[in-house]
Amino acid sequence: MSKERDELDTATTPVSKYCKLMYQRDMVSSTGGNVSVRVGKVVAISPTGSVLAELTGEDLVRVDMETGERIASDGLPSKELPFHLGIYRQRPDVSAVIHGHSPYAVVASTMLEPNAIDAFPAYSAGYLARVTRLPLLAYHDSGSLELADAVAGVFAGGAKAVLLQNHGFIAVGTDLRSAFVTADELLDALKAFVLSDGKATPVSQEVRERLRAKADDAILKGVNA
Ligand SMILES: [Zn+2]
Repeated sequence: MSKERDELDTATTPVSKYCKLMYQRDMVSSTGGNVSVRVGKVVAISPTGSVLAELTGEDLVRVDMETGERIASDGLPSKELPFHLGIYRQRPDVSAVIHGHSPYAVVASTMLEPNAIDAFPAYSAGYLARVTRLPLLAYHDSGSLELADAVAGVFAGGAKAVLLQNHGFIAVGTDLRSAFVTADELLDALKAFVLSDGKATPVSQEVRERLRAKADDAILKGVNA
């Protein structure tokens, strides 16, 4: 148990740095959004109502991944804990989840049609390498089991990020840095989409499929995780 505790301390130490970066990049407002990291069967998640820009690793609420019950923590977990747990249960390769309500994500989610595989046009090689594809889920209330089930289902297919209609985005990674970098690339793509009113020209189908295949191959080989 102490080894797991040490690993949790290591995994949660960068929380302060990446939560500040999320705020600076307009991924979250003061009290919007949430983050979590996982070590083994323990998930450490931001408390409900927390201001991410002020959060440290020590503030995270630790819960059992299978039961959702708190482990030696006083705070209340984010109300969006159910979808964080749903992702970890589906994806043993994922050890960090970040979620924000960026205005670009919210607006883009209302301009596109829900699609469980990919709803978004690709504009750049960087997006295809990092995000690869972007499912869009139809609206469900925050914190609902319906949302958690839908999110778990779409991440089970291997997605690295998902758009939630009239809500925001979720990005995942092998650690917080990886999840943040994916979200950062995603937010630039969403910004390009919204600022062009959806009229920017995507890359060709040939380029999209070739670069996606390359990105999928890199994931299989453990590169660019
Ligand atoms: Zn939310």
